[in-house]
Amino acid sequence: MVNVCDIQVMKPLLADHGFHFSKAKGQNFLIAQWVPESIAQQAGVDASAGVLEIGPGIGPLTQQLCLHAGKVCAVEVDTRLEPILNQTVGEFSNLEILWGDVLKQDIAALVAEKFDGLRPMACANLPYYITSPILSALLEADCFDSVTVMVQKEVAQRIAAAPGTPDYSAFTVFCQYYAEPELLFDVPPHCFMPQPKVTSAVITLKVRKQRNWDIADPDIFFRLIRASFAMRRKKLSNGLAAGFPELGKAGAAEVILAAGFDENVRGETLSIPEFARIANEIAKRR
Ligand code: SAM
Repeated sequence: MVNVCDIQVMKPLLADHGFHFSKAKGQNFLIAQWVPESIAQQAGVDASAGVLEIGPGIGPLTQQLCLHAGKVCAVEVDTRLEPILNQTVGEFSNLEILWGDVLKQDIAALVAEKFDGLRPMACANLPYYITSPILSALLEADCFDSVTVMVQKEVAQRIAAAPGTPDYSAFTVFCQYYAEPELLFDVPPHCFMPQPKVTSAVITLKVRKQRNWDIADPDIFFRLIRASFAMRRKKLSNGLAAGFPELGKAGAAEVILAAGFDENVRGETLSIPEFARIANEIAKRR
């Protein structure tokens, strides 16, 4: 197997194909073998797994996934990588590469088609310029057992944040609605070529089999989340009145009290079940 993380191997390989990194496509390739090995191992990839990889690049993580998974499908937007991937991962019969933008794929349909009888997982060293849309699409597809990704460390901290902490955000609630996050390990800039300016981190999101929050209307719930974090450090009633103008100021205050909260409560201190109580009070008034 070609050791693509070895820069003595990688540099001539890229040069042979006249390949230049694209900043616009978020191309920071791994040059530390322990990272893809640890991602595959800590994600729990085994023969029962069908793994969707986003952005194989020149294949360091793809190799590790193929060594352990039942099947791997890798979606890559940059077709210049095709001859390189032929060399680095061409030997794996359990790999299929799909050329195109992952955000244009119907992920649930793809997983159903490619991973019949396997346990679907997603694994990736994500292109940082579109971390949130890709992660949102993976979670909303609601078809994976787990999603294990490398992202900027501050994004990982935001995903795993607890209510009332500075990192807690609308994106935190969105991710934790779908899955339980666990921070796995940090990856310093020198593990990549070219080096990013920030530290990265690998996080795994175990998708919840059940969401026991009795949310009457998920659209209202997510509208509430957006409204609650749009005005941080303000009373929730202000955000609520702005996000749900049909309630009016008095209605917003009434909803908060009816859900059992103090009128001065702030949105960024609330947990998912607490947001659910408020969302259900709004739903009742429709
Ligand atoms: N997996 C490789 C590694 O760890 O060295 C490459 C990771 S690099 C951070 C991100 C990869 O995602 C690049 O190969 C890039 O071309 C690809 N990519 C960027 N945007 C994409 C998109 N919209 N759909 C699919 N792949 C994309």
